[in-house]
Amino acid sequence: MSFSDLGLSEQVLKAVSDAGYQTPTPIQAQAIPYVLMGRDVLGIAQTGTGKTASFTLPMIDILSAGRAKARMPRSLILEPTRELAAQVAENFDTYGKYTKLSKALLIGGVSFSDQEQVLDRGVDVLIATPGRLMDQFERGKVLLNDVKLLVIDEADRMLDMGFIPDIEKIVGFLPKIRQTLFFSATMPPEIRRLTETFLINPKQISVAPASKPTVENVTQGLIVVPTAEAKRDALRTLLTREPVKNALIFCNRKRDIGALQKSLERHGFNAGALHGDMHQSVRTETLEKFKSGGITLLVCSDVAARGLDIDDMSHVINFDVPIHAEDYIHRIGRTARAGRPGTAFTLATPADGKFVSAIERLIHKEIPRVEVDGLSGAALEADDGRRRRGSAPKGEPRAKAEPRPKAEPRSRARAEDAPIPIDAAAPMVVHSPAPTPTATVTPFRQRPRHDDREDRTPVVGLGDHVPAFLLRTVKAVGSVRG
Ligand code: AMP
Repeated sequence: MSFSDLGLSEQVLKAVSDAGYQTPTPIQAQAIPYVLMGRDVLGIAQTGTGKTASFTLPMIDILSAGRAKARMPRSLILEPTRELAAQVAENFDTYGKYTKLSKALLIGGVSFSDQEQVLDRGVDVLIATPGRLMDQFERGKVLLNDVKLLVIDEADRMLDMGFIPDIEKIVGFLPKIRQTLFFSATMPPEIRRLTETFLINPKQISVAPASKPTVENVTQGLIVVPTAEAKRDALRTLLTREPVKNALIFCNRKRDIGALQKSLERHGFNAGALHGDMHQSVRTETLEKFKSGGITLLVCSDVAARGLDIDDMSHVINFDVPIHAEDYIHRIGRTARAGRPGTAFTLATPADGKFVSAIERLIHKEIPRVEVDGLSGAALEADDGRRRRGSAPKGEPRAKAEPRPKAEPRSRARAEDAPIPIDAAAPMVVHSPAPTPTATVTPFRQRPRHDDREDRTPVVGLGDHVPAFLLRTVKAVGSVRG
């Protein structure tokens, strides 16, 4: 199967070939012909499967006939986060470079007035996060009654983030006669219900996760420090010892991100920060710097890093153990991409025991324990609150009498399942003795609405509702031709 078998136009095929794609991915091969036929499509596919091109490529051809009217976009793509929306917009630039479609990106953190100007000129493709679209709709700046093609992307993530009521409202404003393409990595009952209301006789396409995420190729290590305060020290030691080309450093809470970044900078590390409350222009600039190597370390949140697609990432460090086990997979899956090696370390305190257990159940293996210069070696509390084997009292380092096998060869230490010591001369990477079983993301678990995973306080639309007057003007809209 090649792209030319799918019914796409010459212009799109040329752009695809310029992008260096040789063969369609399974979701592309299966979805594109149906989208071109005008059928509704229900795609059960994760990020990384090539799903974005599976809807953008045929959309470009469908939309190239016809013209946009002022404030009345002809198609609408709903994305859960600004970053995903921006990536879809980039896709239109890449694949639409030989066509004249216009697009607008309607995301939080960008000035309303810039967005309004572009909407006024008329756009073929409107790519939006639900919160900002609702704002603009309620201000009368966008009319949805000419939308003939709707894409709902990452629906399960929308559910996680509490966007479903907004989406139901938005879909209520669209014409009943339209084509709908609906993508979700998982199909919890709430999402199934939506597909039954939004889609008419859809072609259902289900594809396996692209790169079986993570654990197979990622060398992993767990560093258990006695207290939360000890994490920064352990992190700095790690960063000094490891051959870090670039690294994402994940925090669970937005408020910790800036503090950690500043602390790293104070210690001479080249670090940036990325989280949902930052101004969009700063986020874009930071990402560009990170991608181009101007920043080596990026302290970030799950949401901000979602969909971040950098092939050559040497390390992922979980400064905090993720609270939802499947986030571990998403996080560490940012490294070891495209066949390259990658390393992921997780810093934990004894109280993180139950979260570590959940991750280990998910990935079907124990994450090898790694010791860092006597800073680590504390024991995790077990799920039931008791300490695990060989544990030190909560909050205290491992007792001196319990020998840390510093001088032992690593293989032996590992054979005994003891923490693997790190000595100053050696790199810190611990290679797993056997390939790790593939982990797949667990079935959907209902989370509280407005849970953005970065902190536990209710959040409205993840920064999509940042008032415009707090933000400087940034141009984030333009025609596909640039
Ligand atoms: P997505 O699942 O849409 O996030 O795409 C994941 C990555 O795959 C992106 O970096 C795309 O540029 C890339 N990609 C999409 N389609 C293809 C293809 N047919 N061949 C190679 N790479 C692709």
